[in-house]
Amino acid sequence: MDEIRAAYARFGIEVEAPTTYGTYYRLCCARCKTMEGNVGDKLLPGMIHTLLEEQFDLYAAGLLGCACGHQAERARTLDPARAEAARTRFA
Ligand SMILES: [Zn+2]
Repeated sequence: MDEIRAAYARFGIEVEAPTTYGTYYRLCCARCKTMEGNVGDKLLPGMIHTLLEEQFDLYAAGLLGCACGHQAERARTLDPARAEAARTRFA
């Protein structure tokens, strides 16, 4: 879980305590604490990075993540050029 926690932290998302025993962890916006969904703990090592890599453009364009825009801001910080391209593409 540490790997998943760290991967989501880069996008400004906190992984909270399990909602169902040992199966799903709640995802919350690191800024405003709005709940954004769940993540299972059955991801294989490395899968979370692939998943978030694929979702980068969606976070950058604001199609995924909190309405407060925190994840989009994080995406712009992580990779400004790619974030800008994604925003243009999905605009
Ligand atoms: Zn938020």
